[in-house]
Amino acid sequence: MIFGAFAVVLSLGGCALPLTEGHAPQPAKAILAEGVRCSSSTLSVDTGFVTGALASCSIDEGNRITVAIEPEDEPPINCSPWYAFRVASEPAQDVQLDLTYGTCGHRYWPKFSHDGVTWEYFHSSDVEISSFAGLDRARVRFRTDGKPLFIAGQEIVAPVTYASWLSRLEAHPDVSRFELGRSAQGRAIEGIIVGDPQAREVVVVIGRQHPPEVTGALALFPFVETILSDSSEAAEFRKRFKMVIVPMLNPDGVALGHWRHNTSGVDLNRDWGPFTQPETRLMRDLFEEIGAETNRKLRLFLDFHSTRYDTIYTLTEEQATDPPGLMDAFIADYQARLPGYWVQEEPGHNADSAVAKAWVYERFGVPTATYEIGDETDRELIGKLGNAAAEAMMHVLLKSDAPAN
Ligand SMILES: [Zn+2]
Repeated sequence: MIFGAFAVVLSLGGCALPLTEGHAPQPAKAILAEGVRCSSSTLSVDTGFVTGALASCSIDEGNRITVAIEPEDEPPINCSPWYAFRVASEPAQDVQLDLTYGTCGHRYWPKFSHDGVTWEYFHSSDVEISSFAGLDRARVRFRTDGKPLFIAGQEIVAPVTYASWLSRLEAHPDVSRFELGRSAQGRAIEGIIVGDPQAREVVVVIGRQHPPEVTGALALFPFVETILSDSSEAAEFRKRFKMVIVPMLNPDGVALGHWRHNTSGVDLNRDWGPFTQPETRLMRDLFEEIGAETNRKLRLFLDFHSTRYDTIYTLTEEQATDPPGLMDAFIADYQARLPGYWVQEEPGHNADSAVAKAWVYERFGVPTATYEIGDETDRELIGKLGNAAAEAMMHVLLKSDAPAN
């Protein structure tokens, strides 16, 4: 059995995850210390690392591992069946792994990594998706090489990944880093200001309200980096605008490997309005601070997510915005930068949905959008989409009229 031929490389400034055992290859017994969920005489499965999650597992003496994948809370819950675990093996051997899903079914193509940083897809000839009595199963066959192997639904993009990325950005003279506040479990919710902190016009960008939505993060990173590029348009943009970016609003959910919620069982993107949660209240306070400043004007709000395909949820024509027509101009400009790629837009608005996009529009009357990247969109393409979205956004905002008062 050979591993996939194409690699997904996620290397953000060379950051590493805080693995309990470090990065050196470890024999199975060394990993048995912490977080082991099931084991046999030659194999063990553990979740003793940040983002690690599975509901239960078992291993039989035929090297067959069965992993049950279930959400953090009772259904109904959005079907985002996150899993992340590590298989340790001694000696090298052929393994059959069954990922068993509840009623939500299979969603994320299994991926593997030796170091938790560089990821590859399991090759399609080694993965078999089937369904029994309405329940999906993904069977993966692979040969271990004696080193621990991470297996997850998506690349692991953990709080430490963000911290490392922010540290790298912080070196830029037009970036200042701040702590917005703390999550329910006390994790830092960090942000950066990009551009002139005194600028009148403000753009707010957030991400990762939903923990497994890693591809949205994979677009947000290049999006922000493009705004920090050396291009003359980026430099001009940073002079005229103040951008506030909060890349990970739900660090608890991310760290715990949740499918959807924070630690109070709440979908944060259904809490804009009630604001019952510490994480969403921090965002409300940030927005109210912008709203209270008479010399400040919010111009645009973008919220990065993932779903099964690339799409942008926009407002409908009935929602007048200031600046007017900005989102249409953005979509057209974004499309023009992506020959051979079709930009999908899905307009909609429900004032009572308690979704970030709806609340920010109702409160400020500015263009708002939920920017969604597909779960399995080609990772190189995601990078290009993030770049193009930033270039399009800067271009249309620079062409927009400055607010009259
Ligand atoms: Zn989402």
